[in-house]
Amino acid sequence: MTESIGRFRFMDAQRVNLDGFAVPDPALGLVAFDSPSDPEPSLVVTDGVITEMDSRSRTEFDLLDTFIADHGLDLAVAPEAMAIDDLAFARMLVDPVVSRDEVVRLAGGMTPAKLARSLALLRPAELVIATTKCRARRTPSNQAHVTNRSDDPLLLAADAATAAAFGFREVETTVPVLGDAPSNAIAVSIGAAVGSPGLLVQCSVEEALELEMGMRGLVSYAETVSLYGTEQIFIDGDDTPWSKAFLTSAYASRGIKMRVTSGGGAEALMGGAEGCSMFYLEARCVALARAIGAQGVQNGGIDSASVAGAVPGGVRSLMAENLMVMLRNLESCTGNDALMSESEVRRTSRTHPIFIAGTDFICSGFGSIQRYDNMFGPSQWNAEDIDDYLAMQRDWGVDGGLRTAEEPEVARLRTRAAQAVRDVYSALGLADFPDAWVDEAIDAAGSKDVPSADLMVPLSAARLIRDSGITMLDVISALDECGYEQEAERLLAMLRARVEGDYLQTAAIFTESMDVLSLVTDPNDYAGPGTGYVPSAERQREIDRIRQQRSVEDLRGQQAIHATDRLRDSGSATQSNDPRDVVIAVSPATGREIWRTLSGLTVVEALEELLAGLEEEGCVGRIVRVNDTIDLGLIGLTGARLAGSGIGIGLQAKGTALIHRRDLTPLANLELYSVAPTLDRAAYRQLGVNAGRHAKGATPEPQRNPYSDEAIEARYHTAVVSLVAIERECSTAGAAPDALTLVEGP
Ligand code: CA
Repeated sequence: MTESIGRFRFMDAQRVNLDGFAVPDPALGLVAFDSPSDPEPSLVVTDGVITEMDSRSRTEFDLLDTFIADHGLDLAVAPEAMAIDDLAFARMLVDPVVSRDEVVRLAGGMTPAKLARSLALLRPAELVIATTKCRARRTPSNQAHVTNRSDDPLLLAADAATAAAFGFREVETTVPVLGDAPSNAIAVSIGAAVGSPGLLVQCSVEEALELEMGMRGLVSYAETVSLYGTEQIFIDGDDTPWSKAFLTSAYASRGIKMRVTSGGGAEALMGGAEGCSMFYLEARCVALARAIGAQGVQNGGIDSASVAGAVPGGVRSLMAENLMVMLRNLESCTGNDALMSESEVRRTSRTHPIFIAGTDFICSGFGSIQRYDNMFGPSQWNAEDIDDYLAMQRDWGVDGGLRTAEEPEVARLRTRAAQAVRDVYSALGLADFPDAWVDEAIDAAGSKDVPSADLMVPLSAARLIRDSGITMLDVISALDECGYEQEAERLLAMLRARVEGDYLQTAAIFTESMDVLSLVTDPNDYAGPGTGYVPSAERQREIDRIRQQRSVEDLRGQQAIHATDRLRDSGSATQSNDPRDVVIAVSPATGREIWRTLSGLTVVEALEELLAGLEEEGCVGRIVRVNDTIDLGLIGLTGARLAGSGIGIGLQAKGTALIHRRDLTPLANLELYSVAPTLDRAAYRQLGVNAGRHAKGATPEPQRNPYSDEAIEARYHTAVVSLVAIERECSTAGAAPDALTLVEGP
């Protein structure tokens, strides 16, 4: 055994190596596509009954086969669909001439193995096109997790309102402590209503309690009815396709939106893959979701995303799972849920194709709260990443469902949400919150910032909610009594929507004006370039206008704050014959429009250090403003030509500096201090010292940039563009240099 070498010790320490990678093993289900045990597609229909499906005769069917065969396939289309060549169907998916309706019609007649085999042929870029075309709803959207470790109702409400402000249209909560669930559901519902009309709210818990909360109106959708691709895992969960179908009907009967959850890798994780590929087993789940009448599917790995991510092609199969849901004409909530990788690169890579394609819900659980507060476990995307995500939307000009929220508006919403929960809990006799708790929750970036939270409060409130049979109508009355008429009306509108039932349509969400967008009212009409969803002009501005953007005027205003009268014009610059004379030549905007360098030092501070450095070497510094060029080499050379020593220091107002000598060409210089943002007082002092040594004919050790692994220059490029524009405005062709005097400071 040899010692590992430095290069590999270094690579081993990178975050991607916290991830697990598996040797493919079909026997364990650790294979993305095409396991040897995956069946050959087949379908035999005798007298209107399926007697063979995917190489199994009816007598060999397991529970899943039976349910899918009896309820999941469109037999009117099946003979035509099953006869289509796999590759021909794959090509139809990306052909803009073939409509979504047509591929969906055909997929309706395809068995799980048939659809799996065809979709496995799509390459990544083709998955993007097919997803763009085949998702149900035209307008993309996004779903948030809103949870915290304390089940703090005030923080839940403030964070739900915040999620609404950032544009999420579904909000999902859950509990670390099951007993807290009804309190969480109410707190998130109130916060959501403060944030926006029409926000759908879910509380993901054990199925019976979740259904009960739905029936009491405390939540408006459900998503965590889990399906599995093998009978064994299904039965291990004490379920059958029939019990899941019953649950689905129970939700629908009360007008509650409902989708199921599945995802490749789950069966392998539970040791019940029966030697089949993840993608084939997921094909069975999706066929089952269609058969039991669910509105949609949350899939693409979900909890087992990292299992899929551990095998070759696994990430591609996750996206193909989502596409399969779309082809079954269901709402597709496209994973990007549980964190798949510790690597920023891998997790971005996993999400990105889905993000640019656009789906019904790009994340089935974007952690709108911090990772440590995400009680589902860290998400693929979390509060840490909201600014990244908004920048990605802007980069590509795509609608990922989010928008920039203005800080004053978020502060207003958080305050109102926390106060509304405090007042409603008090009015209903559930809890009394001290002011300190309310204030902390409003300001908190996470539950660690709320030390006043009492963990027993949500538990006792939840018990009272259940015991006293509180329904959403009671919450609405309390809101109304406490002066929150708008929120009361918004929650009442959600109950009214149940009776109307429009949001039981596939892929339904509400807009902020309570219009339903769904497969029916907002069908995806992508048919190649120039068609399909395009953000409205207003929405595009929302995508483009992130809070960090700055204009030249913004920068000019920031510079003006640092203006000082210490740097004064003192006539024309003259030539010197003094061999100790070194000229510090500054750029045209210095001391006019630009006062601060990129490092944060003011120009005056940089000049003070340069002068002091020259003085240390027995030289005399003299400041000259060059007016006819913004090129630093020429500025430095101009200074050198005026200097008695023949040595000049060139200094741009943004801080970049060099040392020049009279006899050199403009682009050749003695020393360049190029990374302006890293130049501190000591660096300018050393620059002055070195210039002095050059003036005396010595050869000082050149300065080097400090070690850095950041793109420091690139970070400032946008500021530099503005600074250069200002410099150019201040420069005049043929203008002579001015002498400047630095007056002693106060
Ligand atoms: Ca979810």
